Amino acid sequence: MTIKQNVSKILAELPPVVQLVAAAKGRSVEEIMAAVEAGVKIIGQNYVQEAESVYPLIGEKAVWHFIGHLQKNKVRKAVALFDMIETVDSIEIAEEIDKRCRQINKVMPVLVEVNSSREAQKTGVSPESAEELIAVMSVLENIEVMGLMTMGPLTDNPEDSRPYFAETKRLFERIKNLSLPNVEMKYLSMGMSASYQIAIEEGASIVRIGTKIFC
Ligand SMILES: *Cc1c(COP(=O)(O)O)cnc(C)c1O
Repeated sequence: MTIKQNVSKILAELPPVVQLVAAAKGRSVEEIMAAVEAGVKIIGQNYVQEAESVYPLIGEKAVWHFIGHLQKNKVRKAVALFDMIETVDSIEIAEEIDKRCRQINKVMPVLVEVNSSREAQKTGVSPESAEELIAVMSVLENIEVMGLMTMGPLTDNPEDSRPYFAETKRLFERIKNLSLPNVEMKYLSMGMSASYQIAIEEGASIVRIGTKIFC
């Protein structure tokens, strides 16, 4: 299967309300362009440096989401490049995004990454701490909280992810119902190549797919 066929097949089966992010870490400009030409609108990048090398050749043909772990010293470059940061998991990184966005007059849509499986090696805020983090972030003027992102557990069986996706959806709804000022809980980003159908069944509105597009 070609990238074009892969993208067509995935787009045809996604419900219209679900957005596709092509997770493009390690992919060449040619591969990413093929995905964009096949109808991918959003490119996900895990590394600022890699995004900087492919961006000049693709640029505004796509919308760019940061989906990796963001380090503080990369925030200045990240906010210049990306249209959404999906992986905010501390007030320190949120404040740095806010500060750097203020300098360039930008308001950054962000998602809060939740460590739903509570694995120690995972990034993301614990489900218990998400609400407090979002409440603190809601006062930052150059950030707009727009939802949650989660990875789910590292496992061979996608069904193992279902309870964690369901828990993240409940958390999403609970925070939405708080109606915090400057917080618009609109996007729930969860599900990858092996687990996106399950994630959609459990309420995902963004899926991040790499292998199934590019391999
Ligand atoms: C690589 C990656 C994906 C996509 O994973 P696949 O299994 O290749 O679809 C999704 N989300 C994040 C954060 C990733 O790093």
